[in-house]
This record gives sequence, structure tokens and C-alpha cells, in this order.
Amino acid sequence: MRLNVILLGPPGAGKGTQAEILGSSYGVPHISTGDMLREAVKDKTPEGIEAGAFMARGELVPDALVISMVRRRLERPDAQKGFLLDGFPRTRQQAEDLDRMLKGIGRALDIVLYFKTAAAVVLKRLAGRWLCRKCGKIYNVPNVMPKKAGVCDLCEGVLYQREDDKEETILKRLKVYEDQTAALIEYYRRTGILREVSGDEEAKSLSASIGRLFGSLERGQKVSG
Ligand code: AMP
Repeated sequence: MRLNVILLGPPGAGKGTQAEILGSSYGVPHISTGDMLREAVKDKTPEGIEAGAFMARGELVPDALVISMVRRRLERPDAQKGFLLDGFPRTRQQAEDLDRMLKGIGRALDIVLYFKTAAAVVLKRLAGRWLCRKCGKIYNVPNVMPKKAGVCDLCEGVLYQREDDKEETILKRLKVYEDQTAALIEYYRRTGILREVSGDEEAKSLSASIGRLFGSLERGQKVSG
């Protein structure tokens, strides 16, 4: 199955969790620009040094930096059979550059999954979000709890909260989403490949809804060859 996918929606909508599930079901990489940037900050690469200050303030990192990072990532062998882009594009410029990039290599988007999510749900989720420092698994207190407090169920890594998941920065990130990213919903709606799901749903039932959606996409691709 061809699977060139964008996951679109506010921070805390559950995009990362669903991308992980889809990635392991379909064998395509989950490409999160937020994760890539956090890695670059941690490794103190030139890109990480430039991006760090924007991220700490809850602002968007300059388009040129993120676009070149995504371009390099999409060239890697594992992305040739598809990708699940999480947190990219976030601006009109990024969306247009992605269109050009894909056209240039004879590829196209198959589906844009829009996670429509209430602000109250997002706030609550981000404040309760804990991640594993070793494997990246996401927990959500009180809904998705680790068996042992502060320790990952999968790899026993230490759990931590993101710097930018503080209430003040969360509010800033939501405003940035409304101002700069929400317009992409219309941008992709016009292309006919936007599908809306409810980010308010719990991870398990949302995953089942998305599974049904992908099932019909798969059947459609088989029919059209
Ligand atoms: P996320 O993990 O997707 O919530 O991203 C965390 C932070 O990384 C954001 O608040 C931005 O500062 C930065 N970031 C991630 N993706 C992008 C992007 N596509 N464009 C600009 N900044 C980004």
C-alpha cells in the first residue's frame, strides 16, 4: 500500500501516538519534526543551536531550517515506501515546499489526517504527558499510566515531561497553531485528500477509527491500481 501521509492538528491531539501505531502496522517511518529538532538540540548540532531558542519559547523554528531537514529525511531509503509526517507542514510555506518536493520526485500525498481536537482536551493532555527518555513511548496521566511510576513499561527508561509542556508555553503553542497552522486545514481540504478524525477520542478507539479509514484507502488504491 502507498502511504504518503500527513498528520495535522494541534499539539496534544494524539498525532504522535497514532503515527507510532500506524508506522508499526504499515512499516513506514514516523517522521516527527519536533522529535528531530529535539534530537538536534540535544546533540548541539548547528541546526539544534539555531532551533533551541524558538522551541523553548513555543514559537515555530524558521521554515528554511525545517524544510531542509525534512528534505534530507525523505531522501533516506526507509521513506521511499511512504511516510507519516507528524508536525510538518506547519505553515503555508512548508506545505507549498512539500508539494514541490514531492512533485519533483514523482510522488504525491495520499491522505491528510486532520485531528480535530477541543482546546480543553489538548490542555489537559499536554499537562499530563510523560515520555520515555530511552524509547520515546508516550504516557498520558491519568489515562495511559506506566505500571511503575516514572518508569517505561517497554524498556524501563526514565520518564520525563517536555520543557515546552509547561502551561504558559502550551498556551503560546496553541496560539501559534491557530495563527499559522490551522489555515492548512482549508489548504488540504481543497485538494480532496483531507480526512477528519476526532482527537478528543481516547487513543484506542481513535486508532480503530483510523484503521477503518486506512482500510478504505487501501481498497480504493487496489481498485485504482
Ligand atoms: P512538536 O513536538 O511537534 O510539538 O514540536 C515542538 C516544537 O518544535 C514546536 O513548538 C516548534 O518550536 C518546533 N517545530 C516542530 N515542527 C516544526 C515545524 N514543522 N515548523 C516549525 N517549527 C517546528
